[in-house]
Amino acid sequence: MAKRDYYEILGVAKDATEDQIKKAYRKLALKYHPDKNPGNKEAEDKFKEATEAYEILKDSQKRAQYDQFGHAGVSGQGGFGGFEGGFGGFDLSDALRAFMRDFGGFGGFDDFFGGAGAQQGRRRGRTRVERGEDLQVKVSLSLEEIASGVEKKIKLKHFVRCPKCDGKGGSGSRQCPQCDGTGELRRVSRTLFGQMVNITTCNMCGGSGSIVSDKCNECDGEGRVKETSTLSIKIPPGVSAGNYIPIHGSGNVGRRGGPAGDVIVLIDEKSHPVFQRRGDDLIAEVAINFPLAALGGEVEVPILNGKAKLRIPPGTQSGKIFRMRGKGLPRINSYGAGDELVRVIVWVPEKLSAEEKELLKKLAEIQGEKVAGADRSFFDKLRETIGV
Ligand SMILES: [Zn+2]
Ligand SMILES: [Zn+2]
Repeated sequence: MAKRDYYEILGVAKDATEDQIKKAYRKLALKYHPDKNPGNKEAEDKFKEATEAYEILKDSQKRAQYDQFGHAGVSGQGGFGGFEGGFGGFDLSDALRAFMRDFGGFGGFDDFFGGAGAQQGRRRGRTRVERGEDLQVKVSLSLEEIASGVEKKIKLKHFVRCPKCDGKGGSGSRQCPQCDGTGELRRVSRTLFGQMVNITTCNMCGGSGSIVSDKCNECDGEGRVKETSTLSIKIPPGVSAGNYIPIHGSGNVGRRGGPAGDVIVLIDEKSHPVFQRRGDDLIAEVAINFPLAALGGEVEVPILNGKAKLRIPPGTQSGKIFRMRGKGLPRINSYGAGDELVRVIVWVPEKLSAEEKELLKKLAEIQGEKVAGADRSFFDKLRETIGV
C-alpha cells in the first residue's frame, strides 16, 4: 500500500510550525488512541500512522529530508532510541511509547495507574546509552476480575543487568575499533535522489567511543543476561479490552548499562457464560414462565458475584428488557457503575402434565387466537431501553 503524505495525515500545511504539528498530532492521537477505541483496528492503524508522521515532522532534520526526498528520505530511520529496524518494525507499542514520551498519556489516566508518564528522561551528552526494549504482555481477565479489580502475577523473561560485570560488559577499556573512538558511524548510501550520509550511533560501543578490553564471559560483553522474573500488576476495576498499563522500567535493560524499557500490559477480556459487556453495562438473559409474565411477580436474576431480585410487572412480554441500575461494571476513572440489562424471555414448557394441559386448553378456548402487538426485534427494544 502506498504510504500517505505525512502532512496530509496530520492535516497540516507544508509550512506548518512545530507547534501546529504538535497540536494536530495531539488531537489525532487522542481521538484514535487504542484506549478510546478498544478493539478498533482502523483506529489503531490511524494512531500508528499519525504517530509515525509526527515522529518525522517534529524533528527538523528528518523533516527536511522528508521534504526533499519524500518517504525514501526517511525510511529506515527509527527515531526511537532503542528501536532497531526503523519504521519497518514500528508497531503499536512503539507508537504508544512515543505518545507517552511526548504527551505523558492522558494525563489523569496514566497517573491513575501510578505511572510516571513521560518522564523517561532521555540521556543526553556524548555517551548515549541505549535504552532497553519495551516488552508487551497480554493479561486476560474475567468480568468478575474486571468488576473488582485484581492483582495479577505474570512470569516474564527479560534482560536484567549482568550481576558479574554490573552491566559494564567487562573490565578495562580501549578505543572502539569500529568507530575509532568517535562513537558514531557514517554510512554513505546512494539513493535515487543522490548521495546521502547517514550518521548513526556506533553499535559496538553504544556511542561511548570505548569498549571493555576484558569481555565479561557471563554476558559476552553485553552487560545484560536473560532472567525470568515475576511481576505483580495491580489492575484497577473497570478496565476493558485494549486498555494498557505501562510498568516503567520493567522491560529489558539496555546493553552495557542502558536504562530499562517498559512492560506494556495489554488488557484482554474473557467471554462470560452469562453476561455480555457493553461499555460499563452488562446484558443478561433470564427465562420466566408464562404465569409469571402474565400475572407479574418476582424473579431471581444473576448479577456479577451473586443474585438479585427483579420485579416483573403483570403483562410482561417476552424480550422485554429491564434495567437494574448500578449492577454493571464500575466506571474507570470516575464514580459509580454501569447498569445490568436483563432481557426476559418467556419460556414455553416442552412437556406438560395432564393437569397443565387441561388448564392451557381452557385458556386457549377463552383467548381464541387473540395476539396483540407485532413482535419487534431485540435490538429495537434494546435501543428503546438504553436510548440510543
Ligand atoms: Zn557481564
Ligand atoms: Zn564505537
